[in-house]
Amino acid sequence: MTLKERDDKSVLHTYARKDTAFERGEGAKLYDTAGKEYIDFASGIGVNSVGHNNPKLVAAIAEQAGKIIHSSNLYLIEPQIKLAEKLIALCGSDARVFFSNSGAEANECAIKLARKWGEKSGKYKIITLNNSFHGRTIATLKATAQPKFHEHFSPFPDGFIYAKDLADIENKIDDQTAAIMLEPIRGEGGVEPLDFDDLRALDLMLKKRGILLIADEIQCGVFRSGQFTASQVYGIKPEIITFAKGLAGGVPIGAAVTTLKDVFVYGDHGSTFGGNFLSTAAALAALDILSEIYSDGTLAKTIEDFSKSLNLIAAEFPKLFTRISGMGLMVSIVAKTPEIQKQILDAAHENGVLVLRAGSDHIRFLPPLTISKEEIDEGFSRLRQACKTL
Ligand SMILES: *Cc1c(COP(=O)(O)O)cnc(C)c1O
Repeated sequence: MTLKERDDKSVLHTYARKDTAFERGEGAKLYDTAGKEYIDFASGIGVNSVGHNNPKLVAAIAEQAGKIIHSSNLYLIEPQIKLAEKLIALCGSDARVFFSNSGAEANECAIKLARKWGEKSGKYKIITLNNSFHGRTIATLKATAQPKFHEHFSPFPDGFIYAKDLADIENKIDDQTAAIMLEPIRGEGGVEPLDFDDLRALDLMLKKRGILLIADEIQCGVFRSGQFTASQVYGIKPEIITFAKGLAGGVPIGAAVTTLKDVFVYGDHGSTFGGNFLSTAAALAALDILSEIYSDGTLAKTIEDFSKSLNLIAAEFPKLFTRISGMGLMVSIVAKTPEIQKQILDAAHENGVLVLRAGSDHIRFLPPLTISKEEIDEGFSRLRQACKTL
């Protein structure tokens, strides 16, 4: 049996998988079992933030694994404490952190925090935006304002209200509204940064009315926007920011950073694995690497190079693309039709460059933040070849 046949037979069919198995990687390059090389403009959906086989990350994981991997949260965990201190410093807020293993769990923590915070005043509703994506657990699925995700899984928890856009949020607020939860730069639903002035105005209005802002930065956080958080780019001050994907360079982790420091008391929330030695040691190494390329200007230069190439390719194929969108290294070119989107995804893979879909017409790029100029140029050259075949 081929790997594909064994996968079909033994693993639940929740992903439409390509018949490609990767074996190893180096920087922004991946190699499959047939030895074919790919330029990775996807980083495992924004996860491999420091590239593949990054020596500092690998060394940190190996060193930690050789000492202790896990102890449970019933004991002090030094790398977890260091990581919390670092996240607080990077966010620049007076905050505390809860660690989990995934983005959905980070958002679950945010939802529970908002509910408990609002409990005494009868506030429990959370407003989210159309076409958002917040996770696959029952609560975060209901928070995801896309009806197609809600089929088959009723009943859902109450209290999730959907707004068409930022302007519509005010119409949906009532006395029971606890929080607004949003992605400052939308990811899965199609890469779209929210409007700067509108989001800033919303933040001010919420502060005035005593309603929480939850920024889901699971995809757009951890330097992907060019700053540590997209919230910093916008100049907004969410009470809760959630992180996951790129935080530990590929080791599963989630985090909720909140200025609501005393809402949870012992027993209110927990996680067996969350914030263990291995994942937090990996995150510390990833943040060291990323902080360095941020501080020395490398990241800003990479963003500039990437966006130049993206502009060029969009302009070169006006029959295929309408515009580009996004921020930092979370960007997309928008295909004219969903059919073109699908054809480009297949042709890119064929030509040795990995890109992602988002929404029904976005070709999404989430390259490793450490990608080199040479890798960017090679990736776009392959993408150009792919576009020429259509
Ligand atoms: C990926 C993602 C999630 C869910 O994260 P998981 O780790 O898959 O649970 C939630 N919100 C946003 C914005 C995401 O991009």
